[in-house]
Parts: sequence; C-alpha cells; structure tokens
Amino acid sequence: MNYEVAIYRLLAEWGVNPYRVTSTIYMRAAIAVRPDVATLLKDAAKASMSLVGTSTGVLTLPPEIEAGRETQCRTNECGRFGTLSDGEPVCHACSCAGAFLRSKWKNPLVACPVTNKKTLKPYWPTNKGKKIEDQPT
Ligand code: SF4
Repeated sequence: MNYEVAIYRLLAEWGVNPYRVTSTIYMRAAIAVRPDVATLLKDAAKASMSLVGTSTGVLTLPPEIEAGRETQCRTNECGRFGTLSDGEPVCHACSCAGAFLRSKWKNPLVACPVTNKKTLKPYWPTNKGKKIEDQPT
C-alpha cells in the first residue's frame, strides 16, 4: 500500500491542509490508514521498540553513523523526505515522523525502507550484528 497517498487522501477528508500538518496529526493519519489490525499492531510494535530502545540507550549507533543517516534523509535523494509544519522530519516511505523517525536514525536494527536504484541497496543500511568497532563510518 502507498501510505503517502492514503495519508494525504485522509488528511483531505479531515479538512487538513497538507502543508500545515503537524507530526501529531500526521502520525494519527498514519495509524488510521493501516489496512488491518495485524499490520497496525506489527508496525506499532516495531516503532515503539525503536523509540524505547533508543531513548533508553539500549539501541545505539556511533554519532557519526546516526548523523550520516539523518543527512542522507535530509538530502531527499530518495524523494520521500519531508518537514512537517512543526519542523519535525517525516519519511513518507514508512510514514514515520518526529521522534519515531529520529529513533530510526539511532537504531542499529533498522534500515531505510527504500532501495537506491543506483546502488541497489537501501539509502542507509542496518547495522544489525555488527560490533560497534566494525560499523562503517
Ligand atoms: S528513511 Fe530512506 S526513504 Fe525515508 S526519508 Fe530517509 S532516505 Fe528517504
């Protein structure tokens, strides 16, 4: 499912100007467009685990890798990055916004969900299974 289109359709139904969407409203719409309860629970569990793991320091990355992920997103080479009206970042590919997207930048277990057509790899990879000293910089 293309969540980006579904979210903007729903925002239009709610009468929300798509250029004035806060991260709170955006995340409400992102939850509402999940096609079924199983998908919603799976996505919510992943997002919550990322948020809790990174905010408690259980999941960490070297600062330069975290910064590299954020920079990659903000270049918008993928065409899926945006900034919401409250200044929070959003990835339209996974419909993660604000603290949820920022937690992904710190989370070694997740990768960008979009494949770069030039490299045939995600725009930024997971660091799963790598020791801190072996992680690319
Ligand atoms: S996570 Fe990937 S698809 Fe999403 S904004 Fe960042 S680079 Fe783009």
